[in-house]
Amino acid sequence: MAFADAEAIARHRPYAVPMNQPAHHPWKLPAALAAGIVMGALAGWSVHGHIATGVAVVALIEVAFLLTRIRHETRPMMAQPADVSPLQHDRFMTRTRRIASSLRDLRNAASHLPDAVVLLDQEQQVRWFNHAAESLLGLRRPRDRGVFLQQRFAHSDLSGWLQDGAQEPLNDISAPGEPDSQINVSMLPFGRRQHLLLARDISHLNRLEQIRRDFVANVSHELRTPLTVIHGYLELLDPEDVPELAPVLGEMRSQSKRMGQIVEDLLTLSRLETQHQVADERVPMASLLATVRKEAEALSQGRHQITLESTAEADLLGSPKDLHSALSNLVSNAVRYTPAGGSITIRWKRTPEGAAYSVTDTGFGIPASHLARLTERFYRISSSRSRDSGGTGLGLSIVKHVLNLHQAQLRIESTPGAGSTFTCLFGSARLLPPGGNDES
Ligand code: ADP
Repeated sequence: MAFADAEAIARHRPYAVPMNQPAHHPWKLPAALAAGIVMGALAGWSVHGHIATGVAVVALIEVAFLLTRIRHETRPMMAQPADVSPLQHDRFMTRTRRIASSLRDLRNAASHLPDAVVLLDQEQQVRWFNHAAESLLGLRRPRDRGVFLQQRFAHSDLSGWLQDGAQEPLNDISAPGEPDSQINVSMLPFGRRQHLLLARDISHLNRLEQIRRDFVANVSHELRTPLTVIHGYLELLDPEDVPELAPVLGEMRSQSKRMGQIVEDLLTLSRLETQHQVADERVPMASLLATVRKEAEALSQGRHQITLESTAEADLLGSPKDLHSALSNLVSNAVRYTPAGGSITIRWKRTPEGAAYSVTDTGFGIPASHLARLTERFYRISSSRSRDSGGTGLGLSIVKHVLNLHQAQLRIESTPGAGSTFTCLFGSARLLPPGGNDES
């Protein structure tokens, strides 16, 4: 291992290299580098990829600085001292060259990483950066060595983030060096109050995501018309005219209705995905809750006991149509996944942070292993149960998107066999005193 050799040389008399700095552990850097690269590969350059890159880069940068120091400190010994044999001197020189060459390779690797990497000292001054930082962040050598990061990016999207302490990663901003590219940025602390700024070009991913969204929206749109035609003709056919085909006709009608619902849900999702904010309209909760309750009763048809507890005394600010869709989705799920005889409670109450809308049922419940994935499109615990109950597998995905647009969160608690509670948590900024126009 190159470092073991380096330190061995340093310890070996008469070639003792004076290491003035704190001790370096020979295993630490290669281990960090290997861990970083392996983690990066496993993570597929995801969020963990950022951390992995950071670990690898810290290792590489330490290596680069060590290389400079070794070069500097071994220079006086390049000439053969009088008490050293020519053979010993040759060995030392060969080893030193081999180490220097390995370290140079590692330094080059750090420079050529595809992510932008900027090493910052305790004062947030730029100490080192790689090639990608030049193109993506617009940093230049030697101009930006030692510059204060805050000052360098004072007029970019990074400014506010840096001012707020750069605690969380900042996603999807325009790259200061290439305004047509989008980047994700994060700040990793390391060493003694030093930091590493990492930026990843996500323009390609964004383009792929846009293609996927367009494709889903176009397919759904194209399917809408033929489905409407099929559905219309099926409605025209009277089962009494052909009694032997009545069961087939019934099944065809219900399946074409289901397909129509899937297409509508996909179009709703496409719209929500491209939307970045919602209209700030008053959503009168008293009438919305009454509507949601009526819908639940219609769907249940007397098979469940349905209760409404509304104590929040607050209206919401947002999109009445989208909030209606999200809140009634949760009630419809509760009815569909609760066997006859069970009970369903709809609550609207205050919380320390704002207000919560929740739906509690005494239904089948959900095993803990499924909870994290429930809001993914088409994710179902039991496909047949979902299909039989008329589900599309898109309901909770729509709920999550609507809540995101309202800066609200979805909390799911469930006990298999006992029931579930789905809670939408709204912040106080989304609340209004009740009253005003009562039309929903
Ligand atoms: P679906 O149209 O299939 O109901 P959703 O996105 O609304 O799709 O829900 C996803 C899955 O979550 C459902 O298929 C079901 O397995 C589970 N689920 C949702 N709500 C409940 C509930 N109240 N009780 C039990 N399981 C539920």
